[in-house]
Amino acid sequence: MHDQRELSSLLRRIDGAGYGAYKRLGGAWRLPGFTLHVEHVQGDPFAAPSRLRVQVSGEVAGFPSDLFRTKPRRIALEDFLVRALAREIPNVTKGKRGSGRSGEFSVVDFGQCILPRTAVRVSEEGVEAIISAGLPAAGRRVLGREAEAMLLSELPELVRRTLLYQSLDPRSVQRHVECGEDAEALREQLPEHRLVAFVAEGAILPRASGVSDRPLRRGAVPFAPPESLTVTLERPNSGPIRGMGVPEGVTLIVGGGYHGKSTLLSALAQGVYNHIPGDGREYVVTRKEAVVIRAEDGRFVCGVDISPFISNLPNGTDTKCFSSQNASGSTSQAANIMEALEVGAKVLLVDEDTSATNFMIRDERMQALVAKEKEPITPFLDKVRLLYRDYGVSTVLVMGGSGDYFEVADTVIMMDAYRPLDVTERAKEIVRRYPLKRRPEGGEGFGGFRARRPELASIQPRTRKGKLKVQGSRLSLRLGNYTVDLTRLSQFAEVPQVRAVGYLLAWLAEHGQALRTDGTLGGLLAALERAVEEEGLERFLPARYGDLAAPRRFELAAALNRLRTLRLRDG
Ligand code: ADP
Ligand code: MG
Repeated sequence: MHDQRELSSLLRRIDGAGYGAYKRLGGAWRLPGFTLHVEHVQGDPFAAPSRLRVQVSGEVAGFPSDLFRTKPRRIALEDFLVRALAREIPNVTKGKRGSGRSGEFSVVDFGQCILPRTAVRVSEEGVEAIISAGLPAAGRRVLGREAEAMLLSELPELVRRTLLYQSLDPRSVQRHVECGEDAEALREQLPEHRLVAFVAEGAILPRASGVSDRPLRRGAVPFAPPESLTVTLERPNSGPIRGMGVPEGVTLIVGGGYHGKSTLLSALAQGVYNHIPGDGREYVVTRKEAVVIRAEDGRFVCGVDISPFISNLPNGTDTKCFSSQNASGSTSQAANIMEALEVGAKVLLVDEDTSATNFMIRDERMQALVAKEKEPITPFLDKVRLLYRDYGVSTVLVMGGSGDYFEVADTVIMMDAYRPLDVTERAKEIVRRYPLKRRPEGGEGFGGFRARRPELASIQPRTRKGKLKVQGSRLSLRLGNYTVDLTRLSQFAEVPQVRAVGYLLAWLAEHGQALRTDGTLGGLLAALERAVEEEGLERFLPARYGDLAAPRRFELAAALNRLRTLRLRDG
């Protein structure tokens, strides 16, 4: 391995040379306190930046093994270090120095969640971090002296300030790690208490704005659980905590407009992930298998059995194998439910704001006017209980607009000026007092459905020239020549998850056979999710990318299901 002197003399030698001379940096360099692996050298100053992997030995990094002894602790510690890197980059680096991205250091972008990330790895062996750097140039000529400053003075200072335990505030590290582990433990207690979610007393649910996931700072009303729904759960680090338990079964969230219903539901939707200390939702946890369901007209649907909800379409379309390039509000919502069930959803989160009305309700008068035989849709109202009875799948539903749902609810929570009240008894009383003449239309059971087997080769992650192409944004995933619309999926925590979904689907396309499953979509994605959990995301990537975060299988499924090239085996 080469050392610091050799790196310095190389950089001086190539000063002023064509940009391609940077390729000679590739490989490993032993610098004081750490090893620098130059994993990828950009082709020119305007291209995606170069990728550096920094390795600090366990002895030098000095993290007490207690901080990463369990998996949730390790993930939280790694998340903390990513944030430390991002915070210190502007403090210790000069930034732009030359053309294009010259001089810029960066790490992965992130939000409010603690997620398994590829950017930092901590183990007994030490700490490893992936950092991007724009190697500096004037025009397209190497700026060797500037590169020397970046790699031999700024980078070591960044490493010293962020990847050595002694440089960090031990209380902040501890708090982050314990917070992640506590949230994980709370979530694990949900099944034994027969809960689908838990919202801690004092939690801050509203966000700063419609485009910011940070907590609302001014005027936020802290969450106050109603007595009858209060439970106490245990935290391994911070002791017992009180909060509202959302029971299994069918739960309605009712209340006047602008009283905080959707805010509560969104918090539950994000509760499948752990959050950083100070987020306000660090102790709001939801079963991992909770999926947000909404209408999504215009979406692509590939061979989904939506027959429990929709049958006898006027054009004779087979709804046991429903495909559409342009689904309607109701058929898209039905497909979203069936696809979620297919990959093992245990909780559905539904908001009236984003649902198709004709999918949700069909009241007495409409039944009188439009005969059952003339209406292809069986409303969710008539299936929601059967879904729980037959498949154990619970629903949490925001419904301010129709009291018909009182009939099928186990629990009714009313949001009243941001305070939840348990109004279950009052709702039951109203059901007794005003009995419905409406006829249930759900039939004997929820209905069976067909498991689909995707044609893996129909996932086409490469461009026509054969290049693997994955690009993610908040709104879409680009895979090969195709773009998947993600605009109406709200459970991607951040863009790094979108990119990870892209690479995992690419892996599935090319190596999915190796998973040895029954070939069903549910089987494949469960196996893939498990493999990622056990072996880490890295193993499924073409290179050591540092800008990815692990997704759930539901987000993998959501992207796959919206990929317009998707085909099924057996038709
Ligand atoms: P609903 O779905 O009942 O119509 P929302 O959940 O959309 O209401 O909330 C309406 C507004 O109130 C939003 O701007 C939201 O950020 C804010 N809000 C929600 N919960 C709280 C709270 N606990 N404290 C302060 N503001 C809140
Ligand atoms: Mg709302």
